[in-house]
Amino acid sequence: MKDIVPQPPPLVHNQFATVKELFNQHVVPSYGRFDLALARGEGSWVWDVSGRRYLDLGTGIAVCSLGHAHPEIADTLARQARQLVHVSNLYYQEPQGRLAQSLARLAGPGKVFFCNSGAEANECLYKLARKFGHDDGRFEIITATNSFHGRTLAGIAATGQDKVKHGFEPLVTGFRHVPFNDLAAMEAALSPATVAILIEGIQGEGGILPATPDYLLGLRRLCDERGLLLMLDAVQCGFFRTGRFMSYERILEGVPGGELFKPDAISMAKAIGGGLPMGAAWIRQPYGDLLGPGSHGTTFGGTALVCSVGLKILEIIERDRLADNARQVGDYLKRELERLAGECPQVIRRVRGLGLMLGFELADGVPGLSGNGKSPSLNLVNRLHEAGVLTIPSGQSVVRLLPALNLRDTEAAEGIRIIESVVTSLA
Ligand code: PLP
Repeated sequence: MKDIVPQPPPLVHNQFATVKELFNQHVVPSYGRFDLALARGEGSWVWDVSGRRYLDLGTGIAVCSLGHAHPEIADTLARQARQLVHVSNLYYQEPQGRLAQSLARLAGPGKVFFCNSGAEANECLYKLARKFGHDDGRFEIITATNSFHGRTLAGIAATGQDKVKHGFEPLVTGFRHVPFNDLAAMEAALSPATVAILIEGIQGEGGILPATPDYLLGLRRLCDERGLLLMLDAVQCGFFRTGRFMSYERILEGVPGGELFKPDAISMAKAIGGGLPMGAAWIRQPYGDLLGPGSHGTTFGGTALVCSVGLKILEIIERDRLADNARQVGDYLKRELERLAGECPQVIRRVRGLGLMLGFELADGVPGLSGNGKSPSLNLVNRLHEAGVLTIPSGQSVVRLLPALNLRDTEAAEGIRIIESVVTSLA
């Protein structure tokens, strides 16, 4: 017999507990997750399954560069999906070629390899470095303490944080770490086997720590003198987040000699696809042809679908002057957070970052942010969720803001109002 009243769809009916139970039963528990199940988004706002609205200042860890459900991206996706989603990289297709052309216009003369994630973009850099040094027996890549380069086996070997390595030994060989922003330590670490240096322009997972201008210029000099590749991981800090295409351009603004600075290779991901999985490695000439036919590849890298979205994102960022917006709104957020740090030094110790890549470091022993076995940063992020804002913890004591590049002034002000209410309640 047919039901007179049909059963409602389970997810609409139940909300959070049902979704969480699906994860508990069926998803590998490799993430610590917040008690939050998100159902939809629009611009810089997201809604959870019970219909509650949050201001998203984390954007999936610096991914949704144009916020959520951007209508032009939705149109581009639909149009391209009707035309051509994927063909093998055994063939040519125009969107990939055009996106590579656009990235080289922004980064400088060079060539681009497309992949699907930040870890994979870095894998391309490791292989580039190995290829570059192969004939003279050099293979070692020096990276920075507290860096983060991804979760693949080589990625955790490259990452300068022990916590990602534990349990996965033996590690891929050929990586060593030295303190960030310490040129003398880098110079002392170089060996005859060293072939490349890899750093983030701004350490993201390491707590929003920008490279200093002297460090960047010093590394370039060192690499030129020793015949090393200088490789930058721009997965989190790149793609206009700081107000310039690359964070090093912002860091070196007005610094004598800064305009001549160029890395030999840059890894990108996250914001470049705006939420679709995309990674890219830009390789400066003359090294752009080092990875020849058969040397590297991935089935999904640079599909027509994702590249057409990448092209549209770039078009919108340039048309709507979103780099300038990132700088202006970011400067406002930073000023306001610094004011808050001044008013509540017992909660916020300091504020760091550039543009829309900001972090505030919590003071020691903030009452209400410890004692439950969770880190202070996690506890504060949870409190901010309760108050209606999404942010991202970084390590034990830093909370990150990585909003969409099109965040509005009014939304930034709303974010500050909520953060201020939580911080002052703790002070
Ligand atoms: N590099 C940096 C600087 C990152 O922040 C991340 C991710 O957070 C990665 C690499 C890894 O990127 P993915 O998670 O897309 O593999």
